[in-house]
Amino acid sequence: VEVIALLQLTPVLVDVDADTFNISIESIKKAITPKTKAIVPVHLFGQAADMEAIMALAKEHNLYVIEDNAQAIGANYTYADGSKVKVGVIGHAASTSFFPSKNLGCYGDGGAIFTNDDALAHTLRGIVNHGMYVRYHHDVVGVNSRLDSVQAAVLNAKLPLLDSYNDARQTTAEKYSAAFANHPNIITPIVKGDRDSHVFHQYTLRIIDADRDALMQHLLDKGIPCAIYYPIALHKQKAYADERYNEADFPVTNQLVKEVLSLPMHTELDDEQIQFITDSVLEFLK
Ligand SMILES: *Cc1c(COP(=O)(O)O)cnc(C)c1O
Repeated sequence: VEVIALLQLTPVLVDVDADTFNISIESIKKAITPKTKAIVPVHLFGQAADMEAIMALAKEHNLYVIEDNAQAIGANYTYADGSKVKVGVIGHAASTSFFPSKNLGCYGDGGAIFTNDDALAHTLRGIVNHGMYVRYHHDVVGVNSRLDSVQAAVLNAKLPLLDSYNDARQTTAEKYSAAFANHPNIITPIVKGDRDSHVFHQYTLRIIDADRDALMQHLLDKGIPCAIYYPIALHKQKAYADERYNEADFPVTNQLVKEVLSLPMHTELDDEQIQFITDSVLEFLK
């Protein structure tokens, strides 16, 4: 939304699906007008949005699709025919973030753009380097968005380990979900497709018919760093307030904001820690 606003385009926010937390296809359909230029699905928490439906809508309405892949790098997306592709190469372009907390993090700030379109790749390579295609010839207005060499060196070492990092997250998620299976107050994350279709940037529960905030405080008191992603929906953020937004258009989002709770998720959680976390959740909810 930030980028859309900085480009002086108009962001149009839509609701999400309750089961995946990802952009709702029905809500996209309602929001498309002749002025619509692009769809920006966020692959939230590590699982792809419904890209097959999104690409079909984009084709029908002649729209670009830019995937926000900051949370799902390395995840698979499975088409209806069973074929698989890595998330981030489905739309016309995708971005990712190498912020240290992401699944592939550097030691500071960094990011990357993906595209299969050679002409677009050329354009973007100039824009990120002050609009230069030939040194000291500024053909377009660019920005300074180069990946610095120190971050690149860190990423060079870590990139071959991405799948093993994601595997560690998936293993932790499986242990969490096994501990919470069939609990009346907990909805565990739904994985649509094979194991690699969710790389668990966050492991986010929905807490139903229980005091989510008190549970979170209970966990924090025990030294478990849990968090609410995200506490304030985008349509309620001061920077993006807009009289076009109608609360009735965001029933799922507004409900999820009250229910979500993300447990610790990284590559170094051991069984003892996982057990302590799941026991602490269950002792509060029993
Ligand atoms: C982290 C994140 C971003 C922002 O990444 P930066 O590196 O801070 O620009 C954007 N979208 C999503 C979904 C993210 O998780």
